[in-house]
Amino acid sequence: MIPVQGVEGQKIAVLGLGRSGLATAAALQAGGAQPLCWDDSPEGRDRAHAQGFGCVDLMQTGAFDDVSLLVVSPGIPHLYPKPNPVIAHAMAQGVPVDNDIGLFFRSWAVADWDRFDAMPKTICVTGSNGKSTTTALIHHILTQCGRPAQMAGNIGRGVLDIDPPEDGEVVVLELSSYQTDLARALTPDIAVFTNLTADHLDRHAGQGGYFAAKRRLFIEGGPDRAVIGVDEAEGAYLANQIAVGREDDRLIRVSAARKLGDWGWSVFARKGFLAEWRKGRQVASIDLRGIQGLPGAHNHQNACAAYGAVRALGLSPKDIERAFHSFAGLPHRSQTIAEKAGVRWVNDSKATNVDSAAKALVAFENIRWIAGGLGKEGGVSALRDQLNHVRKAYFIGHSARDFAIELAGLDHEICETMDAAVAACARDAAAGDTVLLAPAAASFDQYPNFEKRGDHFAALVADLPQ
Ligand code: ADP
Repeated sequence: MIPVQGVEGQKIAVLGLGRSGLATAAALQAGGAQPLCWDDSPEGRDRAHAQGFGCVDLMQTGAFDDVSLLVVSPGIPHLYPKPNPVIAHAMAQGVPVDNDIGLFFRSWAVADWDRFDAMPKTICVTGSNGKSTTTALIHHILTQCGRPAQMAGNIGRGVLDIDPPEDGEVVVLELSSYQTDLARALTPDIAVFTNLTADHLDRHAGQGGYFAAKRRLFIEGGPDRAVIGVDEAEGAYLANQIAVGREDDRLIRVSAARKLGDWGWSVFARKGFLAEWRKGRQVASIDLRGIQGLPGAHNHQNACAAYGAVRALGLSPKDIERAFHSFAGLPHRSQTIAEKAGVRWVNDSKATNVDSAAKALVAFENIRWIAGGLGKEGGVSALRDQLNHVRKAYFIGHSARDFAIELAGLDHEICETMDAAVAACARDAAAGDTVLLAPAAASFDQYPNFEKRGDHFAALVADLPQ
């Protein structure tokens, strides 16, 4: 745990008692503060009680008397579509609002570091898609290369829950737009921006607000090095805004679409090969095509971003290449879970939006596509141009019929359930086919979350004969 610094004797309110909220309360207590916890759900409050934290209804009159700070969890709206009433209440009383990321950055460096040979570093990864994969890949490369490393943030461990860093350690954090928007301190050594597509627009009042939230990491954070995907207008703009000139190599430009030779420093992937260029010359190249854990152009983008981040730390191309080959990929993200009778089964349950599903649909051949669930605003008609590799679709969930209408002309079957879809795919698939679960929809109509949906798919596949 990282005890929060500068809070001794203070009362600090904590709103939201999930994983990061509870880790925050513990870190505040370890720093000598008195956490006042609240969660609208009784389950959240029970979890806090079980860990010995007191709960206080933060909406009651006087709740913020003598409170110096309110720390909120990322799932709770702080501004759009409108501030959560507790946050509005705190702001009306003049109480500053922060999150665990802000507390982390003001707390993690300690006087003890004076005896270290190499200062610990932080790498923060943000973007619309590929954050978790890129974060996990960076962490994997570092550990494979013998560097002490920890990973946290949006990827499953609260940032304040990590161990105090050791000599030369690197902490890799995945940060969502909610987190970068609110944090009062954001000072990574290396910041990575994977890409930007429309998402979470309600929480940021549109695309401009969404981009602005991510941009804070680079503009307010002032990282020593920035690794920026420039395939969208926003990334290109951000790179331009940071760079002093074409030669500026504090910035590593990344593309999964085109050659980027004549910049100060760039990494790009084309036709399955990663290339690193520096000051007009190619300095390294890696064949990504046979790497099981990184299938498709979208994962090649993640590979380039991770490569840039660890090159900025001084790792060698050869070591990075070796580590790529042992990366297993993350569960539920373009993950090959079985090969049976020549049919490959791929779990991409995390493809909850059109963009991530589109990437998976071009990453494989002869696809039997399982899709549907709780459809998102805008529908799936944008996928029409990405269906060349799809032999047949098997639609499930609430949006099954809508998807069939929006993608009229595509051979399909309405299956309703995952059981029926897997059975239909097992019946239809021939050797050389890939059965791909890439729903392009949220899971909440049939499952508590995308993980449970992917697990159900994997369990059904495991039960199929070899
Ligand atoms: P995030 O943490 O940003 O949600 P993940 O690595 O968890 O990203 O991947 C989420 C989904 O997006 C998965 O379906 C995955 O296959 C897909 N994906 C991964 N990397 C990319 C990328 N660079 N561009 C687009 N989609 C991606």
